[in-house]
Amino acid sequence: MNDAIRQRARELGFDICRITSAAPPASAQHLTDWLSAGHQGEMAWLQRNAHKRIDPQQILPGARSIICLATSYHAAEWQAEPTSGQGAVARYARHTDYHDVLAAPLKELSHFITAQGDSNTRSLWYVDTGPLLERDLAQRAGLGFVGKHTNLISRQLGNWFFLSEIITTLELPPDKPEVNRCGTCSRCLSACPTNALPAPFQLDARRCISYLTIELKGAIPVELRPLIGNRIYGCDDCLAACPWNRFAKEASLLHPHRRNDLSTPELLSLLKLDAPGFKQLFAGTPMLRTKRRGLLRNVCVALGNTAGKEALPALESAIQDSEPLIAEHAAWAIAEINKRTAG
Ligand code: SF4
Ligand code: SF4
Repeated sequence: MNDAIRQRARELGFDICRITSAAPPASAQHLTDWLSAGHQGEMAWLQRNAHKRIDPQQILPGARSIICLATSYHAAEWQAEPTSGQGAVARYARHTDYHDVLAAPLKELSHFITAQGDSNTRSLWYVDTGPLLERDLAQRAGLGFVGKHTNLISRQLGNWFFLSEIITTLELPPDKPEVNRCGTCSRCLSACPTNALPAPFQLDARRCISYLTIELKGAIPVELRPLIGNRIYGCDDCLAACPWNRFAKEASLLHPHRRNDLSTPELLSLLKLDAPGFKQLFAGTPMLRTKRRGLLRNVCVALGNTAGKEALPALESAIQDSEPLIAEHAAWAIAEINKRTAG
C-alpha cells in the first residue's frame, strides 16, 4: 500500500513521500524545555498548541500513521544577491502562499489514503500551520534530517522545500528513519548574521531575522537593526550556506506560483506603498503576514543599513506616517544614513 501512496503523491507533484508511525515525536521534551526557556519570543501560539505538537493522538484520536511530504521550492535563477537599493526576501515567500498551493493536492492525497482503508478510516492533512512537531516526524520517516541550523535537510532536495503531513488511522509499515549528516560542518552557524545559532541545534528565535522581520509585531531592538542588512522579509543565510544544497531540485509544483517580482524588490518603491497598494502587491503571498506596518518597518531598517542620501526624502515622508512604528524606524534610518554619509 505504501508504494501506491507514494505513486499517487508523485503524480500529484510532491517530491518526496515517506511514512512513519503516529507515536509522539522524540523531541517533545526538547520543545517543552525550549518553551520554558522563553526562546519563542512573541510566538505565543507555540505555547498554546504545545500539547498537540507533542502527541498526534490529540489531533486525530486513533491515528496510526503519518505520511510526510516534501515539495521543492528551489529556483536556480534565485542565486543572485540583491543589488544596492533592493531588499532581500526569503525564497519561500517569493510565491503564492504555499498553504494555498498545497491544499488541493494534499486534500486529494488524503482522500486517496482514506479510500485504502474501511469505512472507519479517517485522515487529516496539514501544511506547517498544523500543530505537529513536523521536522522530528519527517526525520523519523526518513525524509531528511534536522541540521545544526534546526531546519530539515533532504539528501534529495537540500534545504529548499516545504513540509506537509497527512495523519491517518490507517496502519502503514513505517519507513526507515534518517540520521544527522552534518558531520564536522558548521557553515550555517558561521553564516548567521545575528548569532541566533549560538551552538549546534540551538536557535534563539529572539535574535533570528526571520522572527524579527516577520513574527515580531513591535519595534525591532535597536542593537539588532544593523545586523539585519537589507533583509526585509525572513532570512535564508543559514539555509543557503548548507553544502547539501548541491542536491537541490528545481521546483515543479511551486514553479507556476513563483513571484519573481518579489525576489529583489526596490526598497524606495516599497516605502511608498499605501494600505491598498500593499494589499494589491502582496495579495495571496505569505508577505501579507507582516501587514503594511511590519513590512515598512523592515524597509526602513534596510534603508538605514544600506541606502545613501537619495533615500532621505522618502524617509522624511515616512516620518509623517500615521503608524508610529514606521515613523520611529524611519527616523532611525535617517540618523543612520546621516552618520554614514557625514564627511
Ligand atoms: S534565518 Fe538567518 S538569522 Fe535566523 S538563524 Fe538562520 S541565518 Fe540566523
Ligand atoms: S551547513 Fe553544515 S552544519 Fe549546517 S545544517 Fe548544513 S550540513 Fe549541517
